[in-house]
Amino acid sequence: MNPFERPRIYTIETDMSENTTRDTVILGSGCAGLTAAIYTARANLKPLVLEGHEPGGQLSITTLVENFPGWPEGIQGPELIENMKKQAVRFGAELKMAHLHSIDLTKHPYELNIGKETIRTRTLIIASGASARWLNLPSEQALIGHGVSSCATCDGFFFSGKEIAVIGGGDSAMEEALFLTRFATKVTLINRSEKFRASKIMLERAMAHPQIEFMTSTVVEEVLGVEDKDVKGLKLKNRATGKESTLPVSAMFLGIGHEPNAKAFTGLLDLDPDGYILTKNNVFTTKDGEIIPGVFACGDIQDRRYRQAITAAGSGCMAALEVEKYLEEHGR
Ligand code: NDP
Repeated sequence: MNPFERPRIYTIETDMSENTTRDTVILGSGCAGLTAAIYTARANLKPLVLEGHEPGGQLSITTLVENFPGWPEGIQGPELIENMKKQAVRFGAELKMAHLHSIDLTKHPYELNIGKETIRTRTLIIASGASARWLNLPSEQALIGHGVSSCATCDGFFFSGKEIAVIGGGDSAMEEALFLTRFATKVTLINRSEKFRASKIMLERAMAHPQIEFMTSTVVEEVLGVEDKDVKGLKLKNRATGKESTLPVSAMFLGIGHEPNAKAFTGLLDLDPDGYILTKNNVFTTKDGEIIPGVFACGDIQDRRYRQAITAAGSGCMAALEVEKYLEEHGR
């Protein structure tokens, strides 16, 4: 089906001139959501951004971002997000510390329940992202951004000439380990199981690499260096033998997967088997293959492949332009 065609099963019968309803609501305040906010605000749509559980998204927990175009010296992730917020607010976006409890997509305007309040909106941009999985050790959480990272592409460069560890045994971990050999003198890949989930080709590639060493049946008990605010090593335990050891490393990269923040849309939108929102033409959402009018998804919640700040921002822009087009076509 051509995604620009009018949908068959979902139809719009709303009075589009009614004024208590928002033109657009954006779920999520990471790179995708804030870019969508800047664009829709500049189009005078007065977007409401619900900041969600992790305001600022994944960038707000990174340190230096060196690959976002326009910042030749790099910029701190939280500062980049703060700048985007200011830019969106300057043009009339409203930011609200709230998250979605439930949503009704069966009637239009769509109704969003955010706890004590129900918001009605003509269009919706879903940009609630994906969250990296963490080990959830207190020492790990304390050292995020100080040697603990979930993004090799973002932070690998800072560990040039150092020894580092990658946690996980799937394709993400293999990819991170291989990428990190560009910078690190040695990468130790630590898998909690004896077996790997990675595809044969990725596993073989990593195993054949002279700079990568493997540890299996091993779990991280503690990340060392909390007092220095700098990773000094890992306290490990072999699950088979119970033996404990210390691995001196300067960084720990998590490669244990991501969780898309799309649970609220289960049964309402088409999701892939891992829970990512399926989109047509990058941002159009569907249910049983039919386009849902005025509901768009952008950023990591629909992108398991690239997961970069700039690609999230790009799709946020696309979603915003589709919102404008949609409202214009429906007489707003
Ligand atoms: P996977 O679910 O495939 O693997 C997750 C890995 O992390 C497993 O080894 C798992 O161990 C481990 N793990 C999970 N939780 C913990 C924990 N709390 N502590 C320690 N270890 C943990 O996720 P991936 O992100 O690797 O891959 C997701 C999908 O994306 C796959 O389909 C993959 O093929 C694809 N992908 C493809 C790439 C490519 O082709 N280049 C690159 C990256 C991803 P255990 O086995 O013990 O559960």
